[in-house]
Amino acid sequence: AGRSRPRRIVLLGATGSIGRSTVDLLERDPRGFEVAAVAGGRDVEALARVARAVRAEFAAIADPDALGALKQALSGSGIEVGAGPAAVVEAAEREADLVVSAIVGAAGVVPTHAALRLGRDVALANKECLVCAGAPFMREAEKAGARLLPMDSEHNAIFQALGGADPATIERMTLTASGGPFRTWTRTAIAEATPEQALAHPNWAMGPKITIDCAGMMNKGLELIEAHHLFGVPAARLDVVVHPQSIVHGLVSFSDGSVTAGLAVPDMRVPIAHCLAFPDRLTTPARRLDLAAIGQLTFERPDFERFPALRLALDALGEGGGLPTVLNAANEIAVEGFLSRRIGFEGIHRHVAAACEAALKDGTAREPGSVEEALDIDHIVRERSRAALAMPAASGMLTLT
Ligand code: NAD
Ligand code: MG
Repeated sequence: AGRSRPRRIVLLGATGSIGRSTVDLLERDPRGFEVAAVAGGRDVEALARVARAVRAEFAAIADPDALGALKQALSGSGIEVGAGPAAVVEAAEREADLVVSAIVGAAGVVPTHAALRLGRDVALANKECLVCAGAPFMREAEKAGARLLPMDSEHNAIFQALGGADPATIERMTLTASGGPFRTWTRTAIAEATPEQALAHPNWAMGPKITIDCAGMMNKGLELIEAHHLFGVPAARLDVVVHPQSIVHGLVSFSDGSVTAGLAVPDMRVPIAHCLAFPDRLTTPARRLDLAAIGQLTFERPDFERFPALRLALDALGEGGGLPTVLNAANEIAVEGFLSRRIGFEGIHRHVAAACEAALKDGTAREPGSVEEALDIDHIVRERSRAALAMPAASGMLTLT
């Protein structure tokens, strides 16, 4: 689309929900893009399918035992293969114009960091990178001249609504939240919710971890922390409003009373396309927004009583230091514990609250001076959380799917 040569893409988390939506767009514009590398967790068949579909040059699977299977699945394709965490980093470091960071959880930190350090532009779907290691991550991006393009729908909407505005004129940034499947439930009903109920998101089809985060509104809390780092806005100027239709995704309020907002139907291909083509535009197959057909857009204040995870995340953002790192790690393990039915739904925020409190007391929540230090805190908290929730020790690889 107007470019003289195809844009080279690395796609990390290629087999997930964001990964598949990205592949859908890449396949529709085979001349606009070439794919330097794809990486996935442990689904060999899915990764091989994606690699062939986008004619990737290199395919990396995080599972170190999957090399033989991946070789076999891609035999005759001419696609190079690699396995293990180092291969995922190699994928992240392949020469490219844009690295799409769509691995789930803190597992995305090391490869995304590797790309940033080489000065690559990164389209960031993985919000956990900024919750786990926000300040050092942003410092390194700046140092290396890497640009971060927000792929999360709310942040992408805000990025577009900002339109290069002078930061001094911004009074407020507002993220909208759908409210998730439990928006109208009582606190007692939410406490007893099952994984099936929590996985039934009304507006978006996403991976399991973020879907559970949405159900308790922890996702919005993580996104406030993400927005703070991405846009350099203090917590006091960040806001959440519940908007069940998920049409308005983010708003920017200026000093003169003007408000700009980003709107689109809830389809992740819209923000993904924006990042893939930036500053150009792609044509996507997303349904077009028809406000008259929708008729009504409604808005509510978030309820911190029924959704205590949102309060926990806000407190972690206010406290700063290593507390967001602790919150993120404890939450990942607690979500795993909930999905494997070791704890109930309210057990998630209870566990996160206890982990934050303990880490504040014993100094684990100290400010990480580097991405590596943030990862050290992450590992300590993960191990503690696994022990506290009687979960088996980590296999050495952080993988959810
Ligand atoms: P998902 O579970 O559907 O996919 C996760 C991907 O990461 C898969 O490809 C999986 O194989 C890969 N993976 C897991 N562990 C890995 C490891 N150790 N090494 C390499 N790859 C690994 O998740 P998703 O819904 O696509 O979300 C991905 C990220 O994007 C999350 O951080 C999420 O918060 C964010 N996000 C997702 C959406 C959405 O609509 N799905 C929207 C906004 C932000
Ligand atoms: Mg979002």
